[in-house]
Amino acid sequence: MARFGLWMVVGVLLALLLGGITTMLLPRLTGDSSIVDSASSTIEASGAETDADDPALPDDVLLGHFPYDEALDSTLEPLTADGSIRLRESAAERMIELLEAARRDNIQLELLSGFRSVEDQTTIFFDRKAERRQRAVERASVSAPPGYSEHHTGYAIDVGDAREPDTHLIEAFEDTDAFEWMEENAARFGFELSFPRNNPQGVSYEPWHWRFVGDRHSLETFYKSRNIRPELPDRPLVPPSERP
Ligand SMILES: [Zn+2]
Repeated sequence: MARFGLWMVVGVLLALLLGGITTMLLPRLTGDSSIVDSASSTIEASGAETDADDPALPDDVLLGHFPYDEALDSTLEPLTADGSIRLRESAAERMIELLEAARRDNIQLELLSGFRSVEDQTTIFFDRKAERRQRAVERASVSAPPGYSEHHTGYAIDVGDAREPDTHLIEAFEDTDAFEWMEENAARFGFELSFPRNNPQGVSYEPWHWRFVGDRHSLETFYKSRNIRPELPDRPLVPPSERP
């Protein structure tokens, strides 16, 4: 009997240990990539849990992302000849000026993704078959659950360095001339980085993802996400009880 009790204790300890390890190994939320594989079936549950635990984020936030309305087709302007990349008119105008300014400074920016409908996002986010057929770059461009992507607004754009396509949509983009140029100049055209390192939303760092905040409507659109208390720590990877 005593031996049985001992094994019970060992078993419980093991379970606790494994539980702790699992928690620590849980993938960090990424804005643009890794949640696609693992989280699509459990977003609802885990999102509700994490957000309820985080007093600083409003109730309607899912996995650190805010809900956004989809821009109407009539408000969008094409930025590429084939019309595949579009932004709201105000943002598109400023983006064209930005691209020209960059070119004058010998920087070749490449536009990778602009407006995405909720339907686009649903397909990319949930369709596993489609996922397998997608190139890595396309998969990585998925940033948020459907309904929660800044790309829905028509104000968000992913940019890359045309001379360094290997860095498209990955963190290494921050080492390119294009990123350096954006950091120094994007604000002049009304663009800002949505998810800087350690952003209070807890979305992973995305040096390629910029949003337009250069007019009243865009500012209103992003008001909530721009006004989370900046002193918040990074989203916890371990439960509060286990934090030092
Ligand atoms: Zn993006």
